[in-house]
Amino acid sequence: MPGLQLRSVSKAFKGVAVLEAINLDLAPREFIAFLGPSGSGKTTLLRIIAGLETADAGEVVLDDRRIDQLAPGARDVAMVFQSYALYPHMSVRENMAFGLRNARVPQGEIDTLIADAAKVLEIEPLLERTPAQLSGGQRQRVAIGRAIVKKPRLFLLDEPLSNLDAALRLRTRVELAQLRKRVDAGVIMVTHDQAEAMTLADRIVVFNDRRIQQVAAPMEIYLRPANRFVAQFVGSPAMTMLPVRLADGGEHASVTLGTGARIDTRVPRAALPAGSAFDLGLRPEHVRVAADGVEAEVLLVERLGERSLVYASLADGSAITAEADGTTELKQGDRVRLAIDGQAAHLFGPDGTGYHRTG
Ligand code: ADP
Ligand code: MG
Repeated sequence: MPGLQLRSVSKAFKGVAVLEAINLDLAPREFIAFLGPSGSGKTTLLRIIAGLETADAGEVVLDDRRIDQLAPGARDVAMVFQSYALYPHMSVRENMAFGLRNARVPQGEIDTLIADAAKVLEIEPLLERTPAQLSGGQRQRVAIGRAIVKKPRLFLLDEPLSNLDAALRLRTRVELAQLRKRVDAGVIMVTHDQAEAMTLADRIVVFNDRRIQQVAAPMEIYLRPANRFVAQFVGSPAMTMLPVRLADGGEHASVTLGTGARIDTRVPRAALPAGSAFDLGLRPEHVRVAADGVEAEVLLVERLGERSLVYASLADGSAITAEADGTTELKQGDRVRLAIDGQAAHLFGPDGTGYHRTG
């Protein structure tokens, strides 16, 4: 099978498990984002694929070839480090040539590879400079250029945008998307920024607690989060979770809030496990400040221009995030009513599993 397969990869540091039995299949040319909180093992897994770290167990297979026993240079993968790791005393050209020289690529070929990569990345005027003479964004391009000249089957990018300021990060995100179309290889990009993952990736792998929590296309992750962790990690601000009791009802689950209000969802009742204690999950866009609805007290209004986010508390003390117009006059302490769109709501079971509307 072409592409990358991770089979039951595990890793511990000094007896502390960091990754447990990781299984993953990447299609050739797929752009995958590894998303997860700091310390969830994303970099470690990237380093295992690159050969900079050895797994305690498991296999890494790239295009039908087992690579986990091969030296890093023999794996046909190229890693771009979070710190860029450029050689400070070498010019940009020498930085890009270094790996190729070690691999005994003939000088003529090296020149062509560097010229091509420099053109793609628009760094031709920078080739004779040293890293100290470059801006953060230029350094980042050189680091990517050093990977491109290796013509790898797989690019491994560790938080490639995290050292750039906000404006440059957005611009470089667009460039990465463009670049991706021009290279004939797969990409794994590590990030803790969900917007970056949502924008760039074909599929997102969400990591937490030593395990993969979900692997799916960005909108699937957003609309049908596998569990409470994914639901709250993806989406900004985090999904509201309200403790509810399952009420009597028909084909779809109805629930009652701590305040006594009843919400009719579109989650098939038959999908739910036994028991009556669930969390109701609501994205802010599904809770509107309205003339009618559940009573709440405003804690904070965040003005985002076209819309505002209203952080509020219900009569039973539970926290809820709602949306209002950008022009809202609401302020802290105001009493409001919130219309909850049960049709879009999610339910989360006692073990955290997510249940969603069908269709
Ligand atoms: P992430 O990239 O998701 O932030 P890492 O893969 O860097 O996470 O780290 C995962 C965990 O493994 C962290 O708790 C980190 O401290 C630990 N760790 C990573 N590398 C080493 C190492 N070389 N020695 C000991 N612990 C490490
Ligand atoms: Mg990391």
